[in-house]
Amino acid sequence: MLDLNILSEQTVDMPQAPYRARHFIDGTFMDSADGRTLDRVSPSHGVLVSQAALGSATETEAAIRAARLAFDDGRWSGLSAKDRAAVLNRVADLIEANEERLAVIETLESGKPISQSRGECGGAADLWRYAASLARTSHGDSHNTLGEDILGVVLKEPIGVVSIITPWNFPFWILGQKLPFALAAGCTCVVKPSEMTPSTTAMLGELLAEAGLPAGVCNIVLGHGDPVGSLMSTHPDVDMVSFTGSTAVGKTITRAAGDTLKKVALELGGKNPQVIFADADLDSAADAVTFGIYFNVGQCCNSSSRILVHEDIADDFVARVVALSRRVVFGNPMHPDTQVGAIVTAEHQAKIDGYVKDAVSAGAEVCLGGGALDVPGLGRQFYQPTVVRGVTPDMAIAREEVFGPVVTVLTFRDFDEAVALANDSPYGLSAGVWSDDVHTCLAFGRKVRAGTVWTNTWMDGFPEIAFGGMKESGQGREIGRYGFEEFLEVKSLVMRIGRTRAPWVKTA
Ligand code: NAD
Repeated sequence: MLDLNILSEQTVDMPQAPYRARHFIDGTFMDSADGRTLDRVSPSHGVLVSQAALGSATETEAAIRAARLAFDDGRWSGLSAKDRAAVLNRVADLIEANEERLAVIETLESGKPISQSRGECGGAADLWRYAASLARTSHGDSHNTLGEDILGVVLKEPIGVVSIITPWNFPFWILGQKLPFALAAGCTCVVKPSEMTPSTTAMLGELLAEAGLPAGVCNIVLGHGDPVGSLMSTHPDVDMVSFTGSTAVGKTITRAAGDTLKKVALELGGKNPQVIFADADLDSAADAVTFGIYFNVGQCCNSSSRILVHEDIADDFVARVVALSRRVVFGNPMHPDTQVGAIVTAEHQAKIDGYVKDAVSAGAEVCLGGGALDVPGLGRQFYQPTVVRGVTPDMAIAREEVFGPVVTVLTFRDFDEAVALANDSPYGLSAGVWSDDVHTCLAFGRKVRAGTVWTNTWMDGFPEIAFGGMKESGQGREIGRYGFEEFLEVKSLVMRIGRTRAPWVKTA
């Protein structure tokens, strides 16, 4: 008897028919020239959810051509920021109006609970509105102190054509972290969603057209990383690649983009520690650890899969996390009370299980879970909430992204050891610190190498607050003012006033 909280009922209706996702190129929705498609079967329900056009070099080149032309003729960058913002705000309204339709397909393609899909899809409207507000703030500098006859002006310009490549774990949200900011800056775009979750991106194409975005400004190509994503990373007409996904593919893209020296912005993997000091509010910390590991079934770049806990409170803390883990609602993602849904693919589930089994072989102890979860009526592409302790820093489970509902617990003795363990990772995406002593929190925040540090909280995010990683978690920042600036280029105008310039060549 596992004694877990499993919900197999379903209250949300399934769609009448699979969604037909098509490319959106130069303002036109289209199938692939060769007619090829890719089926997506729901990880939770085993039914066909969508059939998406499978793009080739032909569609990718057409999309890049359309984006290049749309950028170069100024049909978007030449509009006032006020007019661009108006379009983005209309998109936000349409996203809200279509929240349920988007959320249902997001859940069925990804396996995540409907409540989270609603939050992700509906909530993305706020990213679009925030980006719209930033469009009108873009400005450069003037230099009026360079001498009587010189005025210097530093302009901000859109960087040009941006390739946007996104992963399967938060398809609609991550698109919202990139696309409206690129559009607000005046860029034109080619977008490729993950082949596993293409539909909400294709649906967004419909909303962009309805909102009045000019043809060619945003083009969507559906398909695999190769050839679609790789062409988007190498094509000479692309100025920048904005990528979210695995560190391995991020490195491939960086190398590929190097030949044409494109700007590359990367949001990659993480192995994020939450550090629990002995004076922390343990109820709140245990709840945040539970949230941090099971949200999106742990298939989350911000998953707090590495718990570092002071040795004096380790037994108490692990017991709390295990007790809370038993109460988290796992099961049918099409029920609004479900908190944790299915694993994205059977192969990925086997990989998660492999990490747990290898850790046990290396001497770790499984306190809870450690195997597939059978949700009655839905099958076994689910994984049990899993707590593993007795983990040492050298084990793969403590170093690599497991990307599943598996939390590992390591202990420390003092502040310096906590910081050293937290930083002992090739990744540097996010970190958390729990202590009632503000000095401990501040000192940790300054010493840990992570793009975001949460103190006495976990995974609170806001469109205003920049997000991104250090080390192998990425480069560049998304959202916030810094994220917007990534899509802007700097140009300096140096202007002489009057005809007073001393000649370089002596003529007399
Ligand atoms: P992935 O790297 O396998 O795929 C991401 C995207 O890249 C997909 O659209 C894929 O088709 C495409 N792709 C694959 N090969 C390519 C190539 N050679 N050239 C161009 N594009 C290519 O990642 P995934 O499995 O979809 O997503 C999970 C990963 O994403 C995890 O590592 C996770 O940590 C990371 N992630 C990071 C963040 C962040 O903000 N830092 C957010 C979400 C996910």
